[in-house]
Amino acid sequence: MATITNHMPTAELQALDAAHHVHPFSTQADLEKSGVRVITGAKGVWLTDSEGSEILDAMAGLWCVNIGYGRDELADVAARQMRELPYYNTFFMTSHVPVIALSAKLAELAPGDLNHTFFASSGSEANDTNLRLVRTYWGEKGKPSKQVIISRWNAYHGSSVGSASLGGMKGMHAQGGLPIPGIHYINQPDWWSEGGDMSPEDFGLARAQELEQAIIDLGEDNVAAFIAEPIQGAGGVIIPPETYWPEIQRICDKYEILLIADEVICGFGRTGSWFGSQTVGIRPDIMTIAKGLSSGYQPIGGSILSDEVAAVIGATEFNHGYTYSGHPVASAVALENLRILEEEKIVDTLRDDTGPYLKAKFEEMAEHPMVGEAKIIGAMGSLALTPDKGARAKFAADAGTVGYMVRERCFANNLVMRHVGDRMIISPPLTITKGEIDTLIARAWQSLDEGMANVK
Ligand code: PLP
Repeated sequence: MATITNHMPTAELQALDAAHHVHPFSTQADLEKSGVRVITGAKGVWLTDSEGSEILDAMAGLWCVNIGYGRDELADVAARQMRELPYYNTFFMTSHVPVIALSAKLAELAPGDLNHTFFASSGSEANDTNLRLVRTYWGEKGKPSKQVIISRWNAYHGSSVGSASLGGMKGMHAQGGLPIPGIHYINQPDWWSEGGDMSPEDFGLARAQELEQAIIDLGEDNVAAFIAEPIQGAGGVIIPPETYWPEIQRICDKYEILLIADEVICGFGRTGSWFGSQTVGIRPDIMTIAKGLSSGYQPIGGSILSDEVAAVIGATEFNHGYTYSGHPVASAVALENLRILEEEKIVDTLRDDTGPYLKAKFEEMAEHPMVGEAKIIGAMGSLALTPDKGARAKFAADAGTVGYMVRERCFANNLVMRHVGDRMIISPPLTITKGEIDTLIARAWQSLDEGMANVK
């Protein structure tokens, strides 16, 4: 077989890819019909493809490249660590310097008494850890009946059996016999789509109080934890009304329910604070982390535990771990990523300077005739597409048809935006400049105009 390189014609790469590569969340027919876009390089917020196009990545990959692409420091650290100690495990009373340093750094950055990290290689693995961990926690506390975990419809917590069950995506549950038993779902706080005649404030309270009702119905002695993202990402960047999270916190406190904040997207600056929990003002017992922890340069995730949860779990042998828990190269790269985020004041700049600029420009898109709602927090924003703004109406076409078409227009205009149904999402690298924000907004407007011209 000929060596496969960046210099091969795109069509040949596409054909090989379609023939041999099974893609997540894709159909074979689409792969064969359209052919994949082959990304060959990246710098800052810009991707280069095999045709030489320069594409503005307004999704930071999959919401993860927080410091932007092409930072040599991370490559250097990885190479150094691979030479020094490419692998060792953290099972059976062993450790190594990169994971010790990363754990200590996370304890410094995480709010409250979240001082202890259990590592995994992804957000899915970390949420699987949480599932076993909270149930084990209550067993150790002498309350073994507390086993049910409450989540939300349309939540995304990963793709493994456990984490997809924790998630509330019906399309995922429909495949592979999910969800596993012991997970209960309440509705999401999506006022624009589901709020009807209620004010956002009343709706936020009502949706939070569904948690209280579920605890009462299930019996508080049977409920272990509530899991949620501070801001739902893959569900469509659902920014809840301000009444929502304080009420959720009150309910978790009242009924002794562990609060798991899934910070896989929101963590490491995405919402303009280090963690989304700080942005929405909650005190989780456990935070799930991944993505921005290493800016996607290495696969690493984890669960950060409060002092109390860690003490209870540490009192027994938790029979759980992954070969790559606390992988030295991934840990060293994550630590370097955190150094860059901190020393270059990337989170502060987003909060105080580029974030407000992005917010102003992004919210102006609500003036587009096809945009019903333009909401953004930090560098995580969503446009709800509608045929009738006043009525908050949905397109008659199958949900997602218009969104998909606008996403294709974005691609054609060298802009990566994602669609979730008929919502258009952005989540760019946190390092995006004001000039790049202008380009992003101009290309998004153009794509919406072109999309609108195609809507019948
Ligand atoms: N949790 C949230 C909130 C996510 O957005 C994701 C991935 O998008 C996950 C968990 C799963 O993370 P991973 O894809 O690293 O397994």
